[in-house]
Amino acid sequence: MIDLHTHSNISDGLLTPTELVEQAANSGVRVLALTDHDDIGGLAEAGQVAAQHGIRLINGVEISVTWKKRTLHIVGLNINPHDEALKAGLSAVRLSRLERARQMAFGLEKSGIQGSFEAASVLAQQSILTRMHFARFLVEQGYAKDPKAVFKKYLVKGKPGYVNHEWMSLESALGLIINSGGVAVLAHPGRYEIKRTNMLLLLEEFRALGGAAIEVVTGSHTAAQYVEYARYAQLFGLKASQGSDYHGKGISFMGLGRLPELPANCIPVWQDWPEMDSLLAA
Ligand code: AMP
Ligand code: MN
Ligand code: MN
Ligand code: MN
Repeated sequence: MIDLHTHSNISDGLLTPTELVEQAANSGVRVLALTDHDDIGGLAEAGQVAAQHGIRLINGVEISVTWKKRTLHIVGLNINPHDEALKAGLSAVRLSRLERARQMAFGLEKSGIQGSFEAASVLAQQSILTRMHFARFLVEQGYAKDPKAVFKKYLVKGKPGYVNHEWMSLESALGLIINSGGVAVLAHPGRYEIKRTNMLLLLEEFRALGGAAIEVVTGSHTAAQYVEYARYAQLFGLKASQGSDYHGKGISFMGLGRLPELPANCIPVWQDWPEMDSLLAA
């Protein structure tokens, strides 16, 4: 019933914000956060459609961050989409994505793949350019059977389409989210391949900067990782969030709203949000 991490075609999802909300409604979701990468342009439309379906739309975003040379994702929930500093910060990230995409295409060209920038731009339409758009092009061209395989072969560190990009700092991302009235959530921590010592450092710093929660249940985690990250949350006094990270049929590990419950030792990130009880009971 609660899905706090989803994407529309404002970033790298396949559905429009309207289609996403409609699908969420049909799947029984009552509280939905739209969390496009580095973009909040879908929130107004999603909010309108959500209201028509009696769904609570949580204004969200997923900000790309560089921390100790690693890329992390920070989800902001209940952010203010009219906040000027947030809007300016995100627009700078989007601009830097364009340059990164040109460099990605250059790398792919050197390994004999022509025209990926143009093709990815067509797939992205007006939205930001992400590795997912390159992945879709490469799959269409038959370079691999699905996005997962294409990432492994072309789009991760050490591969021709990978660019070591400098994203926003952790401090800036948390500052923008929190100053706009939102709460910051460390997205899918199990995906970062960070050893325990560094994970402890990261969580320490995240909490010190005002971070509120970590994603425990996500499409990127195994069942064992739900338990592992519930423990980390408890250890640091952080709340727990849950979200499918839905991108659309065929490119998601988990369906919209098809979420297992948070482990019992978790304090849900929505614990003190208004009207949640009546929303979920209705
Ligand atoms: P970007 O922010 O441009 O680096 O694009 C990252 C996006 O690509 C993520 O948000 C995921 O949607 C997708 N992605 C990253 N790694 C993988 C993978 N191994 N398999 C499938 N999709 C991936
Ligand atoms: Mn994505
Ligand atoms: Mn992510
Ligand atoms: Mn995501």
